[in-house]
Amino acid sequence: MDFDRPREILTDSLKFQIKDRWVLAAISKVPRELFVPPELQALAYEDKPLAIGYGQTISQPYIVALMIQALELKGPEKVLEIGTGSGYQAALLAELVKSVCSVERIHELAEAAKKLLGGMGYKNITIGIAGDELGWKEHAPYDGIIVAAAAPSVPPSLLEQLAVGGIMIIPVGSRWEQELIKVRKGQHGNQIENLGGCRFVPLIGKDAWQE
Ligand code: SAH
Repeated sequence: MDFDRPREILTDSLKFQIKDRWVLAAISKVPRELFVPPELQALAYEDKPLAIGYGQTISQPYIVALMIQALELKGPEKVLEIGTGSGYQAALLAELVKSVCSVERIHELAEAAKKLLGGMGYKNITIGIAGDELGWKEHAPYDGIIVAAAAPSVPPSLLEQLAVGGIMIIPVGSRWEQELIKVRKGQHGNQIENLGGCRFVPLIGKDAWQE
């Protein structure tokens, strides 16, 4: 099956809502079909979330693009992703910034993503297994943090790992529906913006949901 044309059509359809041309260029480049299970490959360019096993999902391309666009990336940044999942969003980020750190709590997903992204030639992505604490303190501070799972509130432990002037994008709300929140960390307080409704799998851990 040829995926180039479907990828082009999806990218074109996102142009109405996503204005950052670098984000669109990344979407038009990264083969999403490689990040979904073989039996779902035919659906890889529908603008929908898809099951990737272990009760988790690869997010809808529009939401991924919206979240990445909201990070206002220029190129030299170090970005932290919480929830590697399939590795698709990490690949998009790696097209746009200097380095990507990504943590995942399900070992099998982390291993599969590491293998896939390594095989694709990405050298600027570091994948780690999530510990008890949210995020990855060892590599902090980050210029951007993108959380691919939903939290009951903005976790202070993640804000601590964000550099001053940095941006965090995180779905906040109940276990079933959330608002996408953009937090810009300031010297003397944070600026908060609501980017609209969304639905994500729960973020599990201290400062978030219990399994
Ligand atoms: N970004 C992914 C989508 C991930 S879905 C992609 O592009 O495919 C959200 C992921 O967050 C799930 O794989 C889930 O296991 C993971 N997750 C949940 N809580 C977490 C935590 N505390 N730390 C790291 N990963 C977490």
